[in-house]
Amino acid sequence: MGELNKRVATLHQLLHQYNYEYHVQDHPSVPDAEYDQLLAELIHIEEKHPELRTADSPTVRVGGQAQSTFNKVQHDTPMLSLGNAFNEEDLRRFDQRVREAVGAVTYMCELKIDGLAVSLKYVNGRFVQGLTRGDGTIGEDITENLKTIYAIPLTLKSPISFEVRGEAFMPRSSFLHLNEMKKKNEEQPFANPRNAAAGSLRQLDSKLAAARKLDIFLYSINDFTELEATSQSEALDELDALGFKTNQERREVTSIDGVLDYIAYWTEHREKLPYDIDGIVIKVNDIDHQDEMGFTQKSPRWAIAYKFPAEEVVSTLQNIELSIGRTGVVTPTAVLEPVRVAGTTVSRASLHNEDLIHDKDIRIGDSVVVKKAGDIIPEVVRVVIERRPKGTKTYHMPTHCPSCNHELVRIEGEVALRCINPKCQAQLVEGLIHFVSRQAMNIDGLGTKIIEQLYEHELIRDVADIFYLTQEDLLPLERMGEKKVQNLLSAIEASKQRSLEHLLFGLGIRHLGVKASQVLAEKYETMERLLAVTEEELVTIHDVGEKLAQSFVTYMANKDIRALLDKLTAQGVNMTFTGQKLSQVEGHPDFQGKTIVLTGKLQQMTRSEASQWLKQQGAKVTNSVTRSTDLVIVGVDAGSKLVKAETLGTPIWNEQDFIDKQSEMSEV
Ligand code: NAD
Repeated sequence: MGELNKRVATLHQLLHQYNYEYHVQDHPSVPDAEYDQLLAELIHIEEKHPELRTADSPTVRVGGQAQSTFNKVQHDTPMLSLGNAFNEEDLRRFDQRVREAVGAVTYMCELKIDGLAVSLKYVNGRFVQGLTRGDGTIGEDITENLKTIYAIPLTLKSPISFEVRGEAFMPRSSFLHLNEMKKKNEEQPFANPRNAAAGSLRQLDSKLAAARKLDIFLYSINDFTELEATSQSEALDELDALGFKTNQERREVTSIDGVLDYIAYWTEHREKLPYDIDGIVIKVNDIDHQDEMGFTQKSPRWAIAYKFPAEEVVSTLQNIELSIGRTGVVTPTAVLEPVRVAGTTVSRASLHNEDLIHDKDIRIGDSVVVKKAGDIIPEVVRVVIERRPKGTKTYHMPTHCPSCNHELVRIEGEVALRCINPKCQAQLVEGLIHFVSRQAMNIDGLGTKIIEQLYEHELIRDVADIFYLTQEDLLPLERMGEKKVQNLLSAIEASKQRSLEHLLFGLGIRHLGVKASQVLAEKYETMERLLAVTEEELVTIHDVGEKLAQSFVTYMANKDIRALLDKLTAQGVNMTFTGQKLSQVEGHPDFQGKTIVLTGKLQQMTRSEASQWLKQQGAKVTNSVTRSTDLVIVGVDAGSKLVKAETLGTPIWNEQDFIDKQSEMSEV
């Protein structure tokens, strides 16, 4: 019991602290999912041990507390919270409770607008007072700030006296604009539109609030005596008629399955809305039914809020692993305690480079906030500093290569650390993996694991060795059957016929991407002619820059490379251009007429290569993300364009998706 008491005390302390940060300071230190999880744990304990439930438990208290800077006003009727549902099971249980209490019902489904609850008081049709929810009993008087929201009518179409409640929020466009201004002024940006809306309504100077372009949807009335309505749907219609703004996406459904359909629809489409929603609110429609069911201390029994799966969660950074790329770049990767983020489990996230680790002061052992950028790439957003364990140390990248122990260098103008040892095993293995990859020789079945094994068994040392592999070499490897070996050997054999551009790209010549490989192979047609080409000649080619020209000629002049090419030729590897000329490639239906934006740093090609390629497929490549953008392709460190695309719900691909698509097309 002692342990349980301690845990309850810890949960109280944490939840009170998070409530304060969220509701009063508008500056949460942890994502909502973390708060929800702790609250669920406390609810669970209290259900099993009711004697541990105290009057000030966070499970019975609503929201935060009124701030002293505004006049504190008592609500005529308390402003409550809502019970939460996180999955279908929770919803079906809610439905069962409802049916047990009042029989079959219809439900009103509404979007759960992610803003802050406010209460508006009208006397004889005139807006007289607006309050925040505060702790549910006492709110702050923010009338002047609320008057700056155009959607709040100051005078109603009929002279009634009542209180109406709703959600004030900041549309995404205002939020993006506000945060851009904040960044320009070197102020800390708001974490999300909800905090921004709450912060704006708590400005003491209402001119500041006015500049923030807030909006509001009204969704409930606390006293029905002045209205005709007998249901939530009629109440919302009446609010419309009186001149209020209500959300038009609401839908009345006749069963819990209808609720689930509505949820499924908005789970998929919510990004298209110009404002944030964090769930769906389900309300028993009939007012008599609502009255019959009543309230708990904290929320109505006749309503529930379904919350969408978390997009930001907290995990622990267990380690920072280093990987060495083909070009010797050392990349740090965060090894995380596995967590569910937006529907999938995340256990690793690239940390890109040392600068990023230092900027965010990420340390092993830290609790970190993790999200998926563009819903695809896991990312460590920030450290939860408040939870930093004692004794953590600032992270430093090693001074020597973790694979070959050669000293690492930081090339001027680059953030990356590099191992420049040409014999570094990790780089050689990466080079082999690159050689067999889809854009290069495309050898099916020759994955990373097999390459590593072949290297360890000293069966391959350079790319040409791949073509000398025999059945006897392959059979003893782990998880290798006769059939698999046959398939692999056939794939190796078939790859010998790939057109010259694939071989060129596969060799991994510095600065030579997919596009330039194609251009060179197409122009010079044979390896023999490429071996004789000069730097002066190369730089005259449109797609070849100085750096590439230099590295290409140096590469081709290398004695070892000549020997390697002879070794490849001896095994019958094709050294001529047999592919399709770029000019003959027609636009691809998947890209034809599409407007595409590239953002962030691409790793395997330059942006201009990617752009050229897209244009050849008939796409229009533009600079800014708008509603008419069909696709955004993101590289590393993508910034505001990615945010905008997320906001607008524009489809987003990462570089690998893009490369996969290119390969898929080149295979047809
Ligand atoms: P809630 O936000 O889960 O639900 C109640 C609120 O929903 C209402 O007060 C109202 O403002 C809103 N709402 C939006 N649309 C509505 C509609 N159509 N009909 C009715 N209500 C609608 O509960 P809460 O008590 O306001 O706050 C809890 C939320 O705050 C949780 O999401 C929790 O994760 C978050 N929170 C986070 C932290 C943190 O540290 N990150 C701390 C405290 C609370």
